[in-house]
Amino acid sequence: MKVINQFINGKEYISKSDRFGDVFNPANGEKTKKVSFANSEDVKVAIECAVEAGKKWAATPPLTRSRVFFRFKDLIMRDIDQLALELTSEHGKILSDSAGSITRGMEVVEFACGIPHLLKGEYSENVGSDIDSWSMRQPLGVSVGISPFNFPAMVPMWMFVISIACGNSFILKPSEKDPTVPYMLAELLKEAGLPDGVFNVINGDKEAVDLLITDPAVDSVSFVGSTPVAEYIYHTSSKHNKRVQSLGGAKNHMVVMPDADLDQVVDGLIGAGYGSAGERCMALSVAVAVGDVGDKLIEKLTPRVQNLKVGPGTDPEVEMGPLISDVHLAKVKSYVDAGVSEGAQLIVDGRSISLQGYENGYFIGGCLFDHVKEDMKIYREEIFGPVLSVVRQPTFNDALKMVNDHEFGNGTTIYTRDGDTARAFSNQCKIGMVGVNVPIPVPMAFHSFGGWKRSLFGDHAMHGMDGVRFFTRLKTVTSRWPTGIREGADPPISPIIIIDSVSGSARNKSKQSMKLVPFIGSPPMPIHVD
Ligand code: NAD
Repeated sequence: MKVINQFINGKEYISKSDRFGDVFNPANGEKTKKVSFANSEDVKVAIECAVEAGKKWAATPPLTRSRVFFRFKDLIMRDIDQLALELTSEHGKILSDSAGSITRGMEVVEFACGIPHLLKGEYSENVGSDIDSWSMRQPLGVSVGISPFNFPAMVPMWMFVISIACGNSFILKPSEKDPTVPYMLAELLKEAGLPDGVFNVINGDKEAVDLLITDPAVDSVSFVGSTPVAEYIYHTSSKHNKRVQSLGGAKNHMVVMPDADLDQVVDGLIGAGYGSAGERCMALSVAVAVGDVGDKLIEKLTPRVQNLKVGPGTDPEVEMGPLISDVHLAKVKSYVDAGVSEGAQLIVDGRSISLQGYENGYFIGGCLFDHVKEDMKIYREEIFGPVLSVVRQPTFNDALKMVNDHEFGNGTTIYTRDGDTARAFSNQCKIGMVGVNVPIPVPMAFHSFGGWKRSLFGDHAMHGMDGVRFFTRLKTVTSRWPTGIREGADPPISPIIIIDSVSGSARNKSKQSMKLVPFIGSPPMPIHVD
């Protein structure tokens, strides 16, 4: 069986570790690969290589660094079909979704191609007499990235592309559930001309993560995953003096106003609620129906959820693939059970779906709940599956309060035809990424991605200018030079005589040493009289 190993110093590194994880095809439940779990020796080697390679890379001109990313982008485009196929075979999402997520990652590469411009500092002339001052951004050193299973290409690219473009070296610890695509990206970076050791992949679990985030040679930690782990990573890494950005889970609400275009609403909920089987941190999992819109919404939404085409992600007709694992499938089903026992109304029940030829796949059909209440488990917790809760609120202010009271603050959206309502919502919601009649308001690569509250620990979001700031340190230089003649370059200077009105003596100012000389006759060039 194929084993995915570590990638260190530009090549496959075979660990002596005897710990492995299993990689499955979620569409049929078959075990397809094993992934090596790094031990302390592997982590040590990766860090040493990153430190060493990082020294030269930090001194490499940004223009040269950006050329590596121009080539990397071409290679991703060349191999996108193969990358998408591998992604679908380990994650389960449909092929077009896999390719789309790789494209979103590639857009970060396109942003990073402009790194010479992005790193330009600020300059102030004459902050004092003959004194200038400028600020510049320099790389941190060694960055570590720890990524989740749901975006094995895009999320690592949010991190390592910006970090490396800024002049750092990088160690990625991808999810052990779908490790093939991150490994392929490492090979493509090498093919693009990235020097060995600047990008390394350490596969593994908590053991490898803990070694990476506590090692004194590591300067920054970027994490994306579930909130409990995000919080742990933030505290542990900070305690070990790392710079940290740590993104956690979500519960994203769509507020549906009575004047909304309901066809747009339903299209948005189907795509963002059930796309990728709900395994997106920007998935919509709650629809807040305001005023009397709830019944009309349920009426339009129900047949669409019932008719969702569920199947293997490689089938072009399919709209929703399987979940990542049997454990996760059981967890999502248990949430649906909990919703029923807590009294929510289950309008569409996808729990008992069975697909011919894929009986061992981790499939669940779309589930739709109505009359969900704020104290229910299915409302409070992130399910990370194709389960949409409709809650009803009488007024806009009640809906806004609900959004703001939730512990997560990743994304939200409002559907309305009224600009004033949309503006009030955008201004007053305590959420990091907001849509207006847009279902998944994911910021483009040249903006930054990050939530509020328990969806992000740390003060920097991912990519965009926040990414550049996170992966660089600010340095400000204030500089003065002695003034005087340029030895061997300037013609001899006629003496400048300063007359001392008290003593009647004159000073020659054209030499650096200001010696008092006796005043005889008319001075040749008096410029100043004391
Ligand atoms: P996860 O937290 O289980 O794992 C994420 C990473 O952390 C993996 O690499 C894993 O190996 C490692 N890890 C797991 N447990 C650990 C521990 N105890 N100590 C140290 N490392 C540990 O998350 P997941 O299941 O892979 O991904 C799904 C979660 O990620 C969801 O909660 C989702 O909302 C979140 N997510 C958030 C964003 C965002 O931008 N906010 C984006 C994508 C996914």
